[in-house]
Amino acid sequence: MTVADNLARIQERIANAAQRAGRKDSIELVGVTKYVDTSMARQLFDAGCSTLGESRPQQLWQRAEDLESLPIRWHLIGHLQRNKIKRTLPLVELIHSVDSTRLARAIDEQARQAELTANVLLEVNISGDEEKHGFAPEELPDVLASSQPLSNVNVTGLMGMAAFTRRGELARQDFRKLKTLFDNLRSTYQLSQLSMGMSNDFEVAIEEGSTIVRVGSAMFDGLETP
Ligand SMILES: *Cc1c(COP(=O)(O)O)cnc(C)c1O
Repeated sequence: MTVADNLARIQERIANAAQRAGRKDSIELVGVTKYVDTSMARQLFDAGCSTLGESRPQQLWQRAEDLESLPIRWHLIGHLQRNKIKRTLPLVELIHSVDSTRLARAIDEQARQAELTANVLLEVNISGDEEKHGFAPEELPDVLASSQPLSNVNVTGLMGMAAFTRRGELARQDFRKLKTLFDNLRSTYQLSQLSMGMSNDFEVAIEEGSTIVRVGSAMFDGLETP
């Protein structure tokens, strides 16, 4: 078995979930490489997964450098500290994890200096788990309103995770909550991306309207990983 086999199986599961839900729009798969070494990340890219996600900025920097020759679209999916913005911005296509207005303003500032526009999602703490980052749902209207004047930050959607205790089918209630929030805000703030669903619950997330899934461990199941 190879990572290409795993990728093919995951793509098929994504397609089946989309079909069950009667969806015709496309769903983006982010291959999360934080558990594996660079050579495995390369194999995943070679197998056809060109969007890769890392949760730690330093690891993303290193990977982006090691795999510089490949046209990988890097996504940062984990917490971003303000002192790491400058080095991260030019490397990533999307930051999934903006979790404070201070961070959004700092990204705007650094993006302006680098003369680029940062595409970001707002992370929502939908489950209320205390260890999780993210805005409370009720904060979102104010956060979105205050992000609009940021000329170098483009808030394109929301990201969230199900509660640690609700895996698989049990995640549905959390995803439904996030989708409802997304639908309520999307027309006013032109949101198009909803990042939800991981290895244990991506099919449920797709049934509930996710447009981006972030899959790590399932991608490397049964493979020798360091
Ligand atoms: C690690 C991670 C993932 C992937 O998790 P798996 O359960 O291994 O698929 C997805 N999203 C975020 C934010 C992560 O940190």
